[in-house]
Amino acid sequence: MKIAVINSGSSSIKFQLFHMPKGEVLAHLLVEQIGASLSHIHFEYKDEKVLSSCVVKNHHEGLEKIISLLSEAGILSSFSALDAIGHRVVHGGEKFHSATLIDERVIAEIEALIPLAPLHNGANLEGILVAKNQAPLVKQVAVFDTAFHFHMPKEAYLYALPYEMYEKHKIRRYGFHGTSHAYILKQSALELKKEASALNIITLHLGNGASACAISQGKSIDTSMGFTPLEGLVMGSRSGDIDPEIVLYMQRELGMSIDEVDATLNKKSGLLGICGENDVRAILEEPSEQGALALAMMTRRIKKYIGSYMALLGEVDAIVFSGGIGENSPTIRERVLDSLACGIEMDRLANEANATTISTPQSKIKLLVIKTNEELEIARESLALLNA
Ligand code: ADP
Repeated sequence: MKIAVINSGSSSIKFQLFHMPKGEVLAHLLVEQIGASLSHIHFEYKDEKVLSSCVVKNHHEGLEKIISLLSEAGILSSFSALDAIGHRVVHGGEKFHSATLIDERVIAEIEALIPLAPLHNGANLEGILVAKNQAPLVKQVAVFDTAFHFHMPKEAYLYALPYEMYEKHKIRRYGFHGTSHAYILKQSALELKKEASALNIITLHLGNGASACAISQGKSIDTSMGFTPLEGLVMGSRSGDIDPEIVLYMQRELGMSIDEVDATLNKKSGLLGICGENDVRAILEEPSEQGALALAMMTRRIKKYIGSYMALLGEVDAIVFSGGIGENSPTIRERVLDSLACGIEMDRLANEANATTISTPQSKIKLLVIKTNEELEIARESLALLNA
């Protein structure tokens, strides 16, 4: 069975073709800078890596380029030959709690959610519409970043604002990175040889964007991202938690416009704001005082979330590191875990080796490193829906 996964952004399309149920990747394509004077296409299949540049005016042309490359390589003749297409959709609001077959009603709902995720849902929808147009008979599935957090209790997802802000305006915590946290949970269950539904774990997706999730009995009961992906941890260029009054101060006292405040919080803050660099590997490779401060702020925030989630969960089976930083940086993992106590014991050699289990056998809480794979999770959830 061939399932394609499309992650459509405002100026890019990420495309993966899977052979399911094995999960073997048949091809991986990335079309970048759609709409610019020149676009770039990265195409990987078997042991080949091909980079080409051409004009790609819009997402329709992007998908046409993808299918012509796949067809030239003898991998897929047309999108109609697919069994299903799974689409990443960032915001599912309060409507969608699992992978959903896309029809006109679902399209209208995703469109209605655009104001809650203006940078993402519009672009995700564009990918859906173009794919439906090119393969009208192929089943298309929407997999939502928010869905895994759907069952958080009300006291976790409500902000202590006037209640009508929630009732009338849907202002609440939604949480993001859900597809990644769900994948990490399932892999952790395999690793720990337990049912996912019996696990209490804290998952840390630490990439450029980063979030923590408290999972109780296999369900997200709290997560650090909120109404938008800005809340929570200190990220590459996002501030994470701040006193909301700062936003008002920036406007009232510093005369900043709404767009300037938005850009400051989302694009100029986090590690970048403190040390001028958003990439953790680069900060570690060229040590500086400001870089050390930025990383200390980041790891301290992660530690605070772990502590608060331990308090919420009571019993914790494992703390799981994932995302580019969590999977690859022994230094950051060590700093996060340093002095956490609670009977946690890290195995230094295993940590240095980026092993899957980095706790000692005596450690009261297991420490895992799991490579996340959101695309495979989308393919799996799409397959499960087709088989349901
Ligand atoms: P995105 O959110 O863009 O998908 P990734 O999950 O790819 O991000 O993570 C990117 C982050 O991972 C960057 O800060 C990068 O420096 C960091 N990273 C990748 N490899 C390493 C490494 N070996 N050591 C430290 N940080 C790393």
